[in-house]
Amino acid sequence: MQKVGFFRSIHFKIALVYVLLLLVAMQLIGVYFIGRLERELITNFTESIDSRAQGLAYRAAEQMREAALGNETELKKGIDQLLEDADDLVEVEVISANNSIVLGTTGNPRIEGKRTTETLIKNVLLKAQTRNKIVRDSNENRRLYLLGKPIKSPEGDLLGAIYVKASMESIYGQMQLIIHTFETGIVISLAVTAILGVFLSRTITRPVSDMRRHALQIAHGDFSRNVKVYGNDEIGQLATAFNQMTTRLKNANETTEAERKKLKSVLSHMTDGVIATDRNGNVILMNDRAEELLNVYRQNVFGMPILSLLKMEESLKWSDLDESVQSSLIDLSDNEKKHILRANFSMIQRENNPFNGVIVVLHDVTEQEQIEEERREFVSNVSHELRTPLTTMKSYLEALDDGALKDENLGPRFLATAQNETERMIRLVNDLLKLSRMDSKNALIDFSRVDFVEFFHQIIDRFEMTKNENIRFVRELPKKKIHTRIDQDKMTQVLDNIISNALKYSPDGGTVVFRLRVLKHHMYVTVTDEGVGIPKSKISKIFDRFYRVDKARSRQLGGTGLGLAITREMVHAHGGEVWAESEWNEGTSIHLTLPITGVKEGATS
Ligand code: ADP
Repeated sequence: MQKVGFFRSIHFKIALVYVLLLLVAMQLIGVYFIGRLERELITNFTESIDSRAQGLAYRAAEQMREAALGNETELKKGIDQLLEDADDLVEVEVISANNSIVLGTTGNPRIEGKRTTETLIKNVLLKAQTRNKIVRDSNENRRLYLLGKPIKSPEGDLLGAIYVKASMESIYGQMQLIIHTFETGIVISLAVTAILGVFLSRTITRPVSDMRRHALQIAHGDFSRNVKVYGNDEIGQLATAFNQMTTRLKNANETTEAERKKLKSVLSHMTDGVIATDRNGNVILMNDRAEELLNVYRQNVFGMPILSLLKMEESLKWSDLDESVQSSLIDLSDNEKKHILRANFSMIQRENNPFNGVIVVLHDVTEQEQIEEERREFVSNVSHELRTPLTTMKSYLEALDDGALKDENLGPRFLATAQNETERMIRLVNDLLKLSRMDSKNALIDFSRVDFVEFFHQIIDRFEMTKNENIRFVRELPKKKIHTRIDQDKMTQVLDNIISNALKYSPDGGTVVFRLRVLKHHMYVTVTDEGVGIPKSKISKIFDRFYRVDKARSRQLGGTGLGLAITREMVHAHGGEVWAESEWNEGTSIHLTLPITGVKEGATS
């Protein structure tokens, strides 16, 4: 979880806003208060100087009136006395209206008896009115209050003026002290507010940071905790709504998860392959079966266009896929193995969205296709096998009808041929019936316990009696009895087919060897001839239905091409195997194994 630094936190920001607001408020109060205080102090000061000057003017008027009555020397004395009472002021001058002569001063005594140079006084004397102004004394860096007051007789005649220069530094000193106190107060209250702000803002920010932490946990999929609700204010209600939302989200998540698991389990246990694509046809999902069927790793094909994955780019275009479900066969066969898949395409569509992707369901139809192909081949083979004897018979019967019947020579020969062909057809139909029974599992195997050595001898004996004299039989059979359970009829047919083939394809003077061996719980039967043999490439096919290496020769020898196919079915029904070994022009060995069943250990050796 990313940690928010204190100075970037909402906590700090709220406290800062508090402090700044307070600072602004105090500044405003300060400006107003100091301004007002300054005005008030100045007014008080000027009023007090005014009233003192008034008093001095009154006393100066008295002195001047007496001087006018002829007591000139007393004037100077009286003025000096008057000025002595005002020596706390920076300077006080008494100026006579007569020629603006300075009668007395608390400042520089040299100006006494001279005309005043002060413009303020000149103005007072001119207008007989009080004048004042505040100036800055740049020498001593202080503010001075200058006041000029007319000295009038009780009759109202202008006698002179009084000039007062008073320092205002005491006011500004006082102001400075108050401002300093005020500033200290501001700093202390700001510090207290900041501390309080930090603590108070925590009451707001704590639930918010709780919710933040909780939201981050939810983002990581942890729905286990609830936010603490501190009250019923807006934040409290927000916390309650947040908890409700968490519960709903948890339920929704659980449902989605359950659905996802279900879907995953369905997809992974499906016997069909499933592939999903996005709207551009690129693979986004694939189940195990699809991987298996296409022989790919899903990591390698994610994002790949589906049509190139299915090797269908040439036969189908992405734009050709429409809403109707489309089905196609995909042939992935190679030289060694057949592999055919059926792919069903269905569109994924949502409301207001024309096309969202495709789901492809893959089904392995190799076996079906193979069965279908075999069926087609079988029907064509049967038709072909029946057509040949039927055509032969038809032509012979036509010839007989055309008069050959009356011919002593041709008549019996043609009839014999027709009979031969009929017998061949009967043999063929019988073989087909046997195969059909084996296929439909209707052929119940009727097991009985026999001594296989004895049983094999009897069959060979039967062939020994009818065989061509120039063919030699060699028996390499054990002397001891081998008891096992077999279906005697079916095993007779198996051995008949193998031995009759060996005789059919053996040359004059050839030898046919019969071997029987026991290995563990199996018997190994081999019939070897010195006949034409079978080309290597065709050995595996001779057990297929209707397969004949040399079709014309086999037909001539009365074969149907079904003998070994029946043999294989019957051996399989006994739980055994059959195969051939052969060298072209040197001979053939047909091997078959049979399990030894229902016999006690040791009885076979
Ligand atoms: P058929 O009725 O033609 O003999 P089979 O199913 O018995 O039919 O045999 C299939 C083919 O296998 C024969 O056509 C023949 O070409 C070949 N074949 C079977 N056994 C032998 C053998 N012992 N020697 C040579 N070819 C054989």
